[in-house]
Amino acid sequence: MLEKEKYEKDNIPSFTVAVIGGGLAGLSLSILLSKSGYKTILFEKEKYPFHKVCGEYISLESWNFIEKLGLNLSQLHLPIIKKLMVSSPDGSFIRSNLDLGGFGISRYFLDNKLQEIAVENGVIICEETKVNEVIFNEEKFTIKYNGEEINASIVAGSFGKRSNLDIKWKRDFIKQKNNKLNNYVGVKYHIKTEFADDTIALHNFTNGYCGISKIEDDKCCLCYLTTAQNLKDNYNSIKKMEQNILYKNPFLKKIFSESEFLYKEPVTISQISFDKKTQIEGHVLMMGDAAGMITPLCGNGMSMAFHSAKIAFENVHLFLSKKISRGEMEIKYADEWQKQFGKRLRNGRIIQRLFVKEKLTNLFIKLIKPFPFLIHIIIKATHGNEF
Ligand SMILES: Cc1cc2nc3c(=O)[nH]c(=O)nc-3n(C[C@H](O)[C@H](O)[C@H](O)COP(=O)(O)OP(=O)(O)OC[C@H]3O[C@@H](n4cnc5c(N)ncnc54)[C@H](O)[C@@H]3O)c2cc1C
Repeated sequence: MLEKEKYEKDNIPSFTVAVIGGGLAGLSLSILLSKSGYKTILFEKEKYPFHKVCGEYISLESWNFIEKLGLNLSQLHLPIIKKLMVSSPDGSFIRSNLDLGGFGISRYFLDNKLQEIAVENGVIICEETKVNEVIFNEEKFTIKYNGEEINASIVAGSFGKRSNLDIKWKRDFIKQKNNKLNNYVGVKYHIKTEFADDTIALHNFTNGYCGISKIEDDKCCLCYLTTAQNLKDNYNSIKKMEQNILYKNPFLKKIFSESEFLYKEPVTISQISFDKKTQIEGHVLMMGDAAGMITPLCGNGMSMAFHSAKIAFENVHLFLSKKISRGEMEIKYADEWQKQFGKRLRNGRIIQRLFVKEKLTNLFIKLIKPFPFLIHIIIKATHGNEF
């Protein structure tokens, strides 16, 4: 018997808010809601803890927000990252200090900790539960999963980059033909290797880039993004692609050949799209990657997921306290989302187009080397402030 059934005796359990997707956006929204006393249910199709494709470098703009959620980051002795190195496919490189910087933490650890905090605060979490339908009728949502259903007054969609619901709802980005902003593949490893605690390196290769930085327990996260075409050209073999393409960058060749790889196989995802998305779909408030995904090169997607949850919470709270109508909540949320993230996403798309072209990246690194202040301008254009 599911724990949520304790809440209601009638056939269809009813919640104030249902959150679909238990990544950073969904977990943080549900913690904020339950701390304010709202009856909240969260659906996650996987079972915690689990690995995710992500570079695992979080901008320090999120530090205080995460601590306020209840995770004491200061006690975890995490690597604090203050330096950046960028190399081009031919091995030229630049170094720079990061103005704000970030810290390293694995998603396996972070998502699981936030899930525990959510449960402690009273969120009902349904793991291994994939939502397959959401219906809005007469001011009420019905959410369907595994042949069961619940009702909720508000639904938040935090189901990440691409989900069954995006396809079901025929969202615009799903209908897009292949272009320079979609059809990417992500690959992640945890490795043990000689690498400075305070540095994040971004190594470019033909049609992609690979980040490396420290996480907890002296491990490194090694994660790259490339085009699906790159993989196809290498007989859909990740190994062959790494040897034929990534190894051409001498830094990557060294990392791949001299490190201890901690999983048998990498974690992978495909069909990643950076095309525009909408922030409201059928009265559902979209958050995190489900509302719009910034290119990983910018290292800011996780902070955007947290920050979007904060904006969603403030607006949901106004609606539930009867200070604004549903329509006003939806407009206000979408406006605030655009104000906060619209420009960052546009800048991210421009940088993405530049960095997947080998010759342009080689040239860019050589040209920018004497002008390190330009790197600070680029980073600023894709990051926000503490929230
Ligand atoms: C290669 C790569 C590297 C990256 N590196 C970084 C980095 O270094 N720093 C950074 O800040 N950002 C990085 N990002 C971006 C970052 O990973 C995302 O922006 C962030 O994870 C978004 O969080 P989220 O909560 O929106 O989605 P997610 O964390 O993806 O969570 C969505 C959840 O929804 C669940 N779900 C999906 N459909 C359903 C359903 N129907 N029912 C129930 N559950 C469902 C999924 O299982 C998943 O757990 C990177 C991304 C990629 C692709």
